[in-house]
Parts: sequence; structure tokens; C-alpha cells
Amino acid sequence: MNRKKVIVLGSTGSIGKNTLKVVEALEPDFDVVALGCRSNVRSLAGQVREFSPRAVAVAGTLDREAERSLSELGQVRLYRGEEGLLEMIAETEADLVVNGISGSKGLLPSVKSLETGKNLALANKETIVMAGTLVSDLARRIGVELLPVDSEHHAVYTLLHNRKKEEVQEIILTASGGAFRDLSYEQLKHVRLEDAVTHPNWNMGAKITVDSATMANKGLEVIEAHYLFDFPVSAIKVLIHPQSYVHSLVRTTDGFLYAQISRPDMRLSIQDALTYPRLQRSCIEPFELTGKSLSFEPVDPRKYRLLSLAYEAVERSGGYAIAYNAANEVAVEQFLSRGISFLEISSLVEDTLQDDWSGSTSRIEEILQVDQEARRRTVEILKKMKRIA
Ligand code: MG
Repeated sequence: MNRKKVIVLGSTGSIGKNTLKVVEALEPDFDVVALGCRSNVRSLAGQVREFSPRAVAVAGTLDREAERSLSELGQVRLYRGEEGLLEMIAETEADLVVNGISGSKGLLPSVKSLETGKNLALANKETIVMAGTLVSDLARRIGVELLPVDSEHHAVYTLLHNRKKEEVQEIILTASGGAFRDLSYEQLKHVRLEDAVTHPNWNMGAKITVDSATMANKGLEVIEAHYLFDFPVSAIKVLIHPQSYVHSLVRTTDGFLYAQISRPDMRLSIQDALTYPRLQRSCIEPFELTGKSLSFEPVDPRKYRLLSLAYEAVERSGGYAIAYNAANEVAVEQFLSRGISFLEISSLVEDTLQDDWSGSTSRIEEILQVDQEARRRTVEILKKMKRIA
């Protein structure tokens, strides 16, 4: 059997590391031909020793120690910078790209993967939030697959498989409720950074863990589901499910609810994307329902303001979803560097969305321009708050 050639982007992050774990468990079916990371060269060097890719890309700027670690990479073609990452994707022959890059920086690598005829396993939700129509059209035109890896979208993708769209009344995305699920709105005023970066169920990076606590993550997922599955946002609901066993549900018109259930472990959806279109025996222990309880609660819109803002952003169309994401990225960065409080994340996004973002976003240049303008606007608002010089 031919080994499937895989490029892993964001290889030193949570999705990337899990992807490599699955590859290791499924050996010898896969050949990791290239790896891309931002700046964690030390971790990258270990991955190079283990998986012997032909090429690696380091997209970020490096400190002196990281530069030194580059020399440990040995016989491998090295690409530098954001441009280099795109060149690596274009020049490396592969069947599948796993995009585990965090944030809006994942967009262009996704586009390049599709343009060069590679199937795309997508964990980078910003790709769809910023350019859903463009990216879906591109995949269709080139004839390659977009395989969602995010647990909720993987669930919905699976649940919609072989089902007529008109038979599905609504999509229900589940949310853990994040680190502050049990706190009241009043208590949120006093939460600390240390508490926000600890997630109850999933082990992920700092940005997405904060996004879980604010539910911006679920907001982005609602937007993503809207574009990926072509459902109006009015038919996409969110339920808090603290145990994270049910990844999402669909309600069919005949009154049934179908759910996808497993332990919360990203390796499951990553494996499905890697082995697509085949289903293969899972590389992790089977999940037993015995002794488990499942509970569901409604979302408090006041506590999770960023979820409501995501719905509004989709309804207003144009560049609002892009501005939502950009403002949130700037706000979370500020929160992580202790520049603003937890509740100021949502007010900063809300203020940015007050501007007019209704322009055209059908071309990638326009999308990137809205992204940049929204960031500039958010920083301006921050300055007015006198938080940064
Ligand atoms: Mg998710």
C-alpha cells in the first residue's frame, strides 16, 4: 500500500502534537513529508528526528537560542517566514495537509494547500470564519476535500453524512462552558488570567482556552458551521454540556436527535481526517457510557456576550465575522499580557463591531484588509481606554 503523504502545520501546538501521535499509532500507513511551526524549534527538532520529514518551515521570528536549535535539524529542507511556509506547502508533494495553526495566520496556508491540490484537514477555524465562501468554492473547484477536525464540526460532518439536508431541522453544537461555567456574571468581574487559561475538559493552547471561557470559541464555531454546512445561523443552536462527551447533535424533521459521543480526545477526529475516506479502528481505548452522566444547560447570553455577537456578525454578513475574529484576537492577546480584564474582552469586540464592516469580502485581499483594519480599530479603542500607549 502507498503511504499517505501528510504535511502537518502547527506541528508543535496541541493539534500538531496529537496528529503526530495518531500517525505514530497508525504506522506504517503515513509518511510525514513536511512540518511547519511558528518558533518552537526545540520541539520541532525532536519531531524531525522522529518523523524524518523532507522539509520544515519556521514561520515566526526566532530568538538566539531557537536559531541555534535550527542547526540540530540535520538533513532537511528549511523554509523561513510566512512566505516560506506557503512555499513549502506549494513545493512539497502531499495527499493531505493538517492545518493546526492557531488564529488568522492559518488562512493563507489553508488556501495554498487547496490551490495546490491537497486535501485539507482543518482544525484552524479562522480559515472558514474569515473566508468560508471563498475556501468552500475553491475546494469544490479544485476537487479536494475539506475535512473538519474541530470536534463539533467533525461530529456534525459525520451526522450529516448520507442525509438529505432538508431532513435536518437544526444543528446543535455543544459547549463545555469553559473555565468559568459555574460563576455568575458578577463573579466574572474578578477572575484572574491564571484561572482563564485552565480548561476543565480539554487540554489546549492559551488562546483557545480563553476563547472557551468567553465562548468566543463557540461563536467562531457557529460561524464555521454556518459556512461549512450551509445552514442559516437561526438553525444552529448551542447547548452547554459540561462533560464534553457529546460533541454535537442534529435534529431531524421527524423529531429525532442524533448525537456523536466519545471521550473528549482530539485524536479521534484527527484519525478520521487522516484515514479519510476509510474508517479505521481507533487508536485510543473505547469509551464506556456506564457510570457516566450527561447533562445539558442553556447558555446565559449575558455571561457569554461573545456568543451572541457571533450570531449578529453572521446576520450582518460582509466583513463582520472577520472583524469579530480580529478584534477578539487582539483582545485576548491584551488579556493574556494583563492589559485588560476578562470582561473587557467582549466589550472590546463589541465596540469594534460598531464600525461599518459591510464591504465586499469576496477576494482574499479584501478579507485580509478587513482583518487588518479591524485590528487597527481595536487597538485604537484600546488606546482610548488608556491601557496602551
Ligand atoms: Mg471545538
